[in-house]
Amino acid sequence: MSRITVIGSGFGGMGSALRLLAAGHDVTVIEKLDKPGGRAYVFEQDGFKFDAGPTVITAPWLIHELFELFGKSSESYVRIVPVHPFYRIYFSDHTSFEYNNEPGFIEENIRRFNPDDVAGYRAFMEKTRPIFEKGFLELADKPFLTIGSMFKVLPDLVKLGSHRSVYSYVSKFIKDPRLRMVFTFHPLLVGGNPFHTTSIYSMIHYLEKEWGVHYAMGGTGEVIRAFVKLFEEEGGKLMLNTEVESIDVREGRARGVRLRDGSFIESDAVVSNADVAYTYLNMIDRSQRKKYTDGKLQRMRYSMSLFVIYFGTTRQYPDIAHHDIILSHRYRELLEDIFTNKILADDFSLYLHRPTATDPSMAPEGCDAFYALVPVPHNASGINWVEEAPRFKEKIMAFLEKHYLPDLRKHLATERVFTPDDFESRLNSYLGSAFSIEPVLTQSAWFRPHNRSEDVENLYFTGAGTHPGAGLPGVLSSSKIVEKLIGPA
Ligand SMILES: Cc1cc2nc3c(=O)[nH]c(=O)nc-3n(C[C@H](O)[C@H](O)[C@H](O)COP(=O)(O)OP(=O)(O)OC[C@H]3O[C@@H](n4cnc5c(N)ncnc54)[C@H](O)[C@@H]3O)c2cc1C
Repeated sequence: MSRITVIGSGFGGMGSALRLLAAGHDVTVIEKLDKPGGRAYVFEQDGFKFDAGPTVITAPWLIHELFELFGKSSESYVRIVPVHPFYRIYFSDHTSFEYNNEPGFIEENIRRFNPDDVAGYRAFMEKTRPIFEKGFLELADKPFLTIGSMFKVLPDLVKLGSHRSVYSYVSKFIKDPRLRMVFTFHPLLVGGNPFHTTSIYSMIHYLEKEWGVHYAMGGTGEVIRAFVKLFEEEGGKLMLNTEVESIDVREGRARGVRLRDGSFIESDAVVSNADVAYTYLNMIDRSQRKKYTDGKLQRMRYSMSLFVIYFGTTRQYPDIAHHDIILSHRYRELLEDIFTNKILADDFSLYLHRPTATDPSMAPEGCDAFYALVPVPHNASGINWVEEAPRFKEKIMAFLEKHYLPDLRKHLATERVFTPDDFESRLNSYLGSAFSIEPVLTQSAWFRPHNRSEDVENLYFTGAGTHPGAGLPGVLSSSKIVEKLIGPA
C-alpha cells in the first residue's frame, strides 16, 4: 500500500481520492478551507443554503461510478434528479428560448425564431456526434503525456474542424443571431470564449442531450458530502482547515507535503487538485521547475473570472426557471471586453440560478434562493474589486429588479458577494481565474499541463487546469486519468 496525499477537496480531488482508495492506496486529502468542495463549497446564511459554484450536473454517471467502485449505490447517499427546461435564455429584445433534450421540444422552440434553422439544428447535431464521440467518449479520460499521443489524434481533430471556433462552427448550421448565442454559450461554462474556443467544445450541448441536465437534491454540495462520507467510511482521511505550503521535491521526486504549521506529511505520490499555476508558482521551488517556469506560467492564457451575488428573497418568483441565462445586446464585443480588453463593461450577461424552482429545501418556507453569476475579466485587469464590488452589485440587482424580479430589494433577506479577489485568495486561483487555464486549442490535450507533472516525478494533477479541463465532467475525468497513471497499490 502506498501513501498518497491529495491537495484539495474539489470534485477532481475527491474523485481522485476515491479512485485511489478503491485501488488500495492509503489516501489523505488536505483541504485549506473549513469545508470540502472547493468551487462546490456551500454557504449557509440566514436560513438559506447556497451552492457557491457548480449547479448543473451533466454526466451523472461519472458520479455514480465512484460509488460503484466500492460496490455501493449513489442513491443511498444522494438523490440526483433531471431538470426541465435545461435552460431558459433571455435575449435583450425580451424574447426567450427554452430547451431540454427532447428533439420535438427544441425544434418547436427553434421554429418560433427561424423555421429554416430546424434543418440546420438537425445537421448540427448529426455533425457534432462524431466530435462528442472523439472529444469526450474517447479522449477525455486518456492522458496526453507524449507529443506522439497528440500526433495520433491530430488527423481526426483536423477532420472534425477543430481549428474553427465554436461560434464559427455553429454559424455554419444556424442563422438566427439569437439561436447562434443559444448554441454557442456552452464554452463559457468551462471558462472559454465561444469565439476563441475550439469547435470541439460544441460537444457540450451534445453531452447535455445525451445524458440530460441534472440537479442534486439539497444542492451540489450534497454530492461532495456524499463523496466525503463514502471516503471516510472506506478508510480515507480528510484534513480540513489545513493548508499545504509546499511540495517537498528532492532529486526531482515529490517526497511529501509541508503544511503551513511546519509539519511534514511523507508521501509516495502527491496529487494536486489545487490550481495548476498556483501549485507550480507557490508550492514548488523554482529550481525544480524546468518547463513550468514563472515566465511560461505568466505567458499562458487564463479563463475569465466571475462576479457572483448569492441572495435570498422573502417572496418567491415562480416565473423564473431553475437555470436562466440573461444575455446582453452585445455578445462578441462583450466577450472581447472580458477576455481580451479585460475591462469591466457597462453591460453584462449573467446566469441566474434559482434552485428553489426544483428544491424548496434551499430556502426557508415561502422564500427563494438565487445566485447571479456575471463573467468578468480575471485579475490581470487591475480592477479594484474592493471599490467596484458594491457599485457593480447594485447595478446588477437594479437590473434584475427592473426586468425579472419585481421589488427585489424590498424582499431581500440575505446576500453575499464573491469577486475575482475571492477566487484568488480563498481558492488560491492564479489571477482569480474561475476556470483555470483557458480552453483554447493551443492549451488543450498535450498542450495543457499534463496529469503527470512534466517537472516533478510522482506529482500528479487533477482538476480544472489539467487535461481535459474545467466543469464537473472534465475534472471527474481527470481523476480517472490520475488513477490510471498511478495504478493499483
Ligand atoms: C461559480 C461557478 C459555477 C460553476 N458552475 C458549473 C456547473 O454548473 N456545472 C459544471 O459542471 N461546472 C461548473 N463550474 C466549473 C466547476 O465547478 C469547476 O471546474 C470544478 O468544480 C473545479 O474542480 P477542481 O477539481 O478543479 O477543484 P476546485 O473546486 O478548484 O478545488 C480545489 C481545492 O483545492 C484547495 N486548495 C488550494 N490550495 C490549497 C493548499 N495549498 N492546501 C490545501 N488545499 C488547497 C482549495 O481550497 C479548493 O478546495 C462552475 C464554476 C464556478 C466557479
